[in-house]
Amino acid sequence: MSAHAVTASTARTSVRLADGREIIYFDDAPGQDRSTPDRRDLPPYAPAAELRYDVLHGEEVLVAAHRQNRTYQPAPGECPLCPSHGDHLSEIPAADYDVVSFENRFPSLGGPAGGRCEVLCFTSYHDGSFATLPPERLATVGRAWADRTAALAKRPDVEYVFLFENRGAAIGATLPHPHGQIYAFPYVPPTPRRMLAAAERFLEEHGRCLMCEVVAREAAGPRVVAETDGFLAYVPEAARWPYEVYVAPRACVPDLPALDAARRDELMRLYADVLRRFDALYEHPTPYMACWYQAPARTKRDAAHLCARVYTPQRTADKLKFLATSETGGGAYINDVLPDAAAARLRDL
Ligand SMILES: [Zn+2]
Repeated sequence: MSAHAVTASTARTSVRLADGREIIYFDDAPGQDRSTPDRRDLPPYAPAAELRYDVLHGEEVLVAAHRQNRTYQPAPGECPLCPSHGDHLSEIPAADYDVVSFENRFPSLGGPAGGRCEVLCFTSYHDGSFATLPPERLATVGRAWADRTAALAKRPDVEYVFLFENRGAAIGATLPHPHGQIYAFPYVPPTPRRMLAAAERFLEEHGRCLMCEVVAREAAGPRVVAETDGFLAYVPEAARWPYEVYVAPRACVPDLPALDAARRDELMRLYADVLRRFDALYEHPTPYMACWYQAPARTKRDAAHLCARVYTPQRTADKLKFLATSETGGGAYINDVLPDAAAARLRDL
C-alpha cells in the first residue's frame, strides 16, 4: 500500500494555459506525458471579482459581473471540459486526462477580491458521473482534493478552501461534463462560519467536539444511510432538504489533508456510495449539490471536524423544492420529507 501511495503521489504535473492560468494534471498512475501546449489565442487572464460587505446582514457578497458571459450549456462537441482533439481546443490541452484542476476562466474570486477559483474535472468522459467513477479514480480525486486544499490554504490571501459540486441543469450547473469546483475564499464564508461558531460554543461548554458527539449519536440511531469502519453517512435530524446526507469521519479529523491515503480512499468510496443512492432515487439522474466543510486555513482549526454534505431539491420524480421567501428571506427552512423516512429510503436503495 505505502509503496503504491508514494508512487501515485508523483503522478502530478502542473503546466500553464495560453493565458497564464495554472492547470494541474492528477494521473491514476505516473508516466503520462502532460506537456501538450495550449494552442489557443486567449486574451490575458484578469480576474475582476470584487468583495463587498453587506452591513445589514453582516456578511460578504462577491460581485463578479464578468461571469455573465461565461459558457452556458455548450453544444455537444464544444464542451470546454472534454480533452482537446483536432480543431476542438478546450480548457484541457491534452488528448486525454484522468483528473485535472485548473484556474476558472470566469472566476468569482481572484483579482481585487483575493482568493482563487478552480474547476476540477473528475473524468475526461463527458457522459460520466462522480457516482460511477472506478475505485482507482476515486482515489485520484481524493488525492487531488487533498492537494488543492493544502496548497491553496498556504496562500496568504486564502482563509477557507471550499470544495463543491453542482450536478444537473435543474440546480444551475452550466456544464454537464462531470466536474466540481474549488473556491479558495479570502474569508470564512457565512455557513461554515456559523457551523464553526456552534462547534466552538460546544467545545467551550463540554470540552469535546460537537461533530464527534453528533456522529456517535447518529451511528446508534435510525438515520444511518451507509457506514464503514472509519466513516458514517447519515441524514441529519433536522434535514433542510428532501434528501440530505452528511458523511463524516468517526474520529476528529480537521480536513482532507489530515487523512492518510488509505482512510481517504475509504472516505471517497463511501461518498461515491452515497451519490449512487441519490442517483437511484428516481428514474433520471438526481440533480444534487455536494460540498465539503473543512477546517479554515489558519483559524478555529481545533473546533473543526471534516464532513461532506450532499443534498437535492428533487422532492418527487417531477417536483423540485424551490427556495422561496421563507428560506431566502427568513432563513427558515421547511422540509416536506420526514428525515427518518428519507434515511430509510436511501439506506434501502
Ligand atoms: Zn465534456
